[in-house]
Amino acid sequence: LPKFHTVNERGHFTDDVPEFAGMHVKEADVPIIKHFKIANRLYKKENYTHNYPFCWRCDSALIYYARDSWYLETTKLREDMIRENEKIQWFPAAVGENRFGNWLKGNIDWAISRDRYWGTPMPIWECEGCDEKVCIGSREELRERGGNFEDDLDLHRPAVDEVTLSCSSCSGQMNRVKSVVDVWFDSGSMPFAQWHYPFENKDRFGDLFPANFICEGIDQSRGWFYSLLAIGVMETGRSPYKAVLSNELVLDEQGRKMSKRLGNAADPWEILEKEGADALRWYLIANSPPWVPTKFARHGVTESARKIFGTLRNVASFFVTYANVDEWTPAVASPDVSERPDLDRWILSRLDAVAAETRQHLLDYQVTRAARTLSTYIQDELSNWYVRRNRRRFWKGERGDDKNAAYATLHEVLVTLAKLMAPITPFISEQLYQTLVTPFDGDAQDSVHLTAYPNPDESRRDTQLEKTMGLTLAVTEGARAARTAAGIKVRQPLGKLWVLDTEATELPLPMQEIVKEEINVKEIGFQAADEVRSVSLKPNFPALGPRFGGKVNNVAKAIKSLDDAAVKAGLKEKSWDVDIPEIGVEKITGAEATVQESPQDGFVLGGDSTQVALESALTPALEEEGFVRELVHGFQSIRKDKGLEITDRVRVFIGADEAWQAAFERHRSFIEAEVLASELRIGEPTEGDPWTLDDVKLHVSLEREGS
Ligand SMILES: [Zn+2]
Ligand SMILES: [Zn+2]
Repeated sequence: LPKFHTVNERGHFTDDVPEFAGMHVKEADVPIIKHFKIANRLYKKENYTHNYPFCWRCDSALIYYARDSWYLETTKLREDMIRENEKIQWFPAAVGENRFGNWLKGNIDWAISRDRYWGTPMPIWECEGCDEKVCIGSREELRERGGNFEDDLDLHRPAVDEVTLSCSSCSGQMNRVKSVVDVWFDSGSMPFAQWHYPFENKDRFGDLFPANFICEGIDQSRGWFYSLLAIGVMETGRSPYKAVLSNELVLDEQGRKMSKRLGNAADPWEILEKEGADALRWYLIANSPPWVPTKFARHGVTESARKIFGTLRNVASFFVTYANVDEWTPAVASPDVSERPDLDRWILSRLDAVAAETRQHLLDYQVTRAARTLSTYIQDELSNWYVRRNRRRFWKGERGDDKNAAYATLHEVLVTLAKLMAPITPFISEQLYQTLVTPFDGDAQDSVHLTAYPNPDESRRDTQLEKTMGLTLAVTEGARAARTAAGIKVRQPLGKLWVLDTEATELPLPMQEIVKEEINVKEIGFQAADEVRSVSLKPNFPALGPRFGGKVNNVAKAIKSLDDAAVKAGLKEKSWDVDIPEIGVEKITGAEATVQESPQDGFVLGGDSTQVALESALTPALEEEGFVRELVHGFQSIRKDKGLEITDRVRVFIGADEAWQAAFERHRSFIEAEVLASELRIGEPTEGDPWTLDDVKLHVSLEREGS
């Protein structure tokens, strides 16, 4: 393309514009206006504000200027780059297909020369006398071509510009072109340049190329992601990376960009100071995938730290406290896993499952799923189930196989968790490892970060046990929800819990006992959901309207009045025959009516994956037992208020009317055991302090034995 310049490289008009020759373009504004005015060609003159380029360093006004440039003919590689891009795993996939894919399809040659001083010099020498040009690939080649320079010459400007070659065609002097290389070419050369390839480290390069993944901001599509790919394909025909994780922005809680002006920017130092680096890392990874914009909530960091690290610390310190008391170490012989109780085998089976899942998620770059898998395991299964239900095994006095099995199990769980969490929470993982492993194992790696990532095989998995225990947890959770919904305290025993899930009939008796204990019910039964719930239909007007037009209200009325049995009859096919006045019998589908369910009288429903129904009716015996438990709970508060040790035995008096006296007698041994009473007297309310509990008037006293 020919260039026509009226301004020279210093910004002054040339002799081609005689009226202003020698004048700087910005100083020529007024003379130019005058020139037009004199010639009577000025249409209008005004000042207005518009964008203008300035030098970022010295603020000089700049002008656009056509220059000669060096190009890499990347259009020749377009098809290769598109083919290679299809092999790259992009997170999110849309960036690879759309943003980056379209950018490659519209590829134009890469202008790589820059008219700057600092930078990688263009390695091209031009002849003064003829058209000869030569591109130099190494120091050696430069010397072979006749370049004369010291061995330690810094091959940057200005020194490199002193190196001249002699032309092989005309023997004229060859000088380096003055430009330097686009910095994106430097960063795109990283896979090669970092090993000084191809001059050195060919083996290492071969082992490490291409990289498994690269990670950068989403704005790098036209920057680093592209320059790496272009140079990789140019040099090897392949993409230099197999996967890209492109980070999205961290926004404020409402989804706005963080800015100083809005004052909505989070202060990372404050968070690191207060919550620690692990808490921030965990929050950012568990909250949403890195390639989705994060709506950052400051309190979310605190909450996730409390939930995960608080729980993990409690479990770890529980373990350490009792292991120290019992002087248990990993060297103590413990029963083989297959010999351990159900709960131990279950938590280890789940540990192996969680380890395999987490590992796979990380291999798939699904870091958020990995964090959430670990989170559920730590909170719901380890802390809230395994440790809570096992406390007594650690508390109890005697050492033995059962206690050693419990220690060995919990120790293994904590150590494996440290390894599983290490990539996400490097510090807390290391702390766990340094506490639980290094003091006891001279052969252990010095750091958790030097250990192999857990890769359990399937041999210890007991999927049947996982299934039944999982069901036990689900049933318990559903029943708790039902209790909450009905406003019945857990201390109040209930008659029966129905599990409304045919699979749950597989729940073995020991698991049923666990549920009874957790939920405080006398009996557990299994039956089809329809026995304890009523169903009705709710008309869906947007779907019915077009079909029935003006008669839609009649139709809706008929649908609503369909009785329980009729709705249940059509439940499976989601199709109901409805007799509609003035129209006749019509088939109504699941799209036209929604099934609504409610418990039958005397039942409370709960649970998502596994539905349960609690019989909420209280018999006099259940009410009596519930009251006794309230009473015991009250005595425990009194013990606490009096500052008694948990092992202190007490003398207790309960005074009440005759009916309640008889009731307390029926529960005498329970009260004695729970209150730790060496003496329990039940009699007329003539001594002790008056105490009204749930409208029952009592007189009670509680004293420490021997006082
Ligand atoms: Zn400047
Ligand atoms: Zn020449």
